[in-house]
Amino acid sequence: MSHIFPRHTKSAPPVAVSGAGCYLTDASGKQYLDASGGAAVSCLGHGDRTIIDAIKNQLDTLAYAHTGFFTSEPAEKLADLLVEHAPGDLDRVYLVSGGSEAMEAALKLARQYHYERGDMNRGRIIARKQSYHGNTLGALATGGNEWRRAQFAPLLMDVSHIDPCYEYRLRREGESLEDYGLRAANLLEEELQRVGPETVMAFVAEPVVGATAGALTAAPGYFKRIREICDRHGILLILDEVMCGMGRTGALFACTQEDVVPDILAIAKGLGAGYQPIGAMLCTSAVYDTIADGSGFFQHGHTYLGHPTAAAGAHAVVSALLDRNLIPRVTVQGDKLRRALQARFGQHANIGDIRGKGLFMGLELVEDRDTKAPYDPKRGLAGKIKKLAFENGLICYPMSGTIDGKSGDHVLLAPPFIIEDRQIDELVDKLDRSIEQALA
Ligand code: PMP
Repeated sequence: MSHIFPRHTKSAPPVAVSGAGCYLTDASGKQYLDASGGAAVSCLGHGDRTIIDAIKNQLDTLAYAHTGFFTSEPAEKLADLLVEHAPGDLDRVYLVSGGSEAMEAALKLARQYHYERGDMNRGRIIARKQSYHGNTLGALATGGNEWRRAQFAPLLMDVSHIDPCYEYRLRREGESLEDYGLRAANLLEEELQRVGPETVMAFVAEPVVGATAGALTAAPGYFKRIREICDRHGILLILDEVMCGMGRTGALFACTQEDVVPDILAIAKGLGAGYQPIGAMLCTSAVYDTIADGSGFFQHGHTYLGHPTAAAGAHAVVSALLDRNLIPRVTVQGDKLRRALQARFGQHANIGDIRGKGLFMGLELVEDRDTKAPYDPKRGLAGKIKKLAFENGLICYPMSGTIDGKSGDHVLLAPPFIIEDRQIDELVDKLDRSIEQALA
C-alpha cells in the first residue's frame, strides 16, 4: 500500500519514472506527451542537462543559507537577471518557493505599504471572478473560483470579485473590442465607488487567465485603463504572472504585452521550469522604499526564502530562455499551434472559442455554439477529457469554471517551448480523439 496522500484518493496515479524533452514516462513504460507542462511549469521540457548541472554545482557549493542571516550569490544573480529584463522600475525581487507564496507575499506587502504610509483603512482587495491565485488562505480568498473556495468560505477574508475581461461571453452585440475592454475595466471604478476607494489596498489580476478560464486574454486597452483607475485612487496593481509569465505568452513578462507596469508582480512555475520549486515577487522601488525608509522590515517570511539551490536552478532556466532564443520561438510555435487548433476545431459544433497567446492556448467547450450554452456541470466534461487524454498518452489541463453559472468547461494547453511541429500534430490528434470520446 502506498503511504502517499494523493490528490485524488479514489484513483491511484501511475508512478512517473523519467522525463525527456516533451515526454514523461511512467513505471509501465507508457509515454505521455506533456502538453501542459504539468500546470504550465515545464517550459524547457524534461531532462535539460544545463539546468541539472547548474543545480548540481550549486549543491556542491552551498545548498542552503537562511535569509535571516545571509544573502547568496545565486539569489543575487537571479534577482539581477530578472530586474535587468523586468519592465519599469520593478527592481526588487523577493524569492519564495512557489506561486501561492509569491501571491501571499504580494498581498502582505501591499497591506504593509499602506500601513507604513499611515493609510490604515486600506485592507480590501478587489480581484476578479473565475480567477485563481493560489491555495493558501490569502491567495484562495483573492481568487474567484467558486468551486475551490466553497468549503473554505468561513476561513476566507472578504474580497470583492468583479467580472473578468471575457470577450467571448461578456462582450455585447455590436460593441467594439476596445469599447468592451474599457467597459470591463470600468467595473473596477464601479466597485471602488461601491466599497469606498479609501478602503481598498490593491487590485489583483492575471494578464492572461490560466487555470480557471483557459487562456483568457484581455481586450486591448483593458489593463491600461485598470492602471489609470488604480493610480487615480492610490491603489496598488498586483499582477499574477505565476502561470502566464516567464515567456509563456511570448514575452518574459506578460504585462509588457499590455504595456503596463504593476506595482507588484508574482511569478513562479516557468521560473523553476520544474527543476526546482521557486517563485518570486517583484516590486517597484516606490513600494520597496516605503518599507526601507519606514520600519525597514517586511513583516513576512519563510524558512526557504531565497533558497540558493532553487535560485541557481532558476537562474539557469531564465538564462536558457534568453540565450537559446526560446521566447521568440514561443510566438512561432504558438502560431502553429493556434493554426492547428483552428484547422481541427474551428468549425467543431461543441467548441465555442479558441483563444490564448503564445504557447498558452485554451478551448472552451459549449453544448450549443450559437447560444454558447455550456454543458451541465454534472456531466463533468473537463474531468472526462483530462482522464481520456491521459489514457491516450496526452497531458493537458482541462478545468471547469463559472462566472455566475455562465461559463463551463475548457481545456488549457501549455506545452514546453521546445515543442516540435510533429509534436504539435500529435497533440492535436490526441486531443481531438479525447474530446470526441468524452462527448460520445
Ligand atoms: N497564481 C496562478 C495564476 C496560478 O495559476 C497558480 C497555480 N496554478 C498559483 C497562483 C499558485 O501557484 P502554486 O501552485 O505554485 O502555489
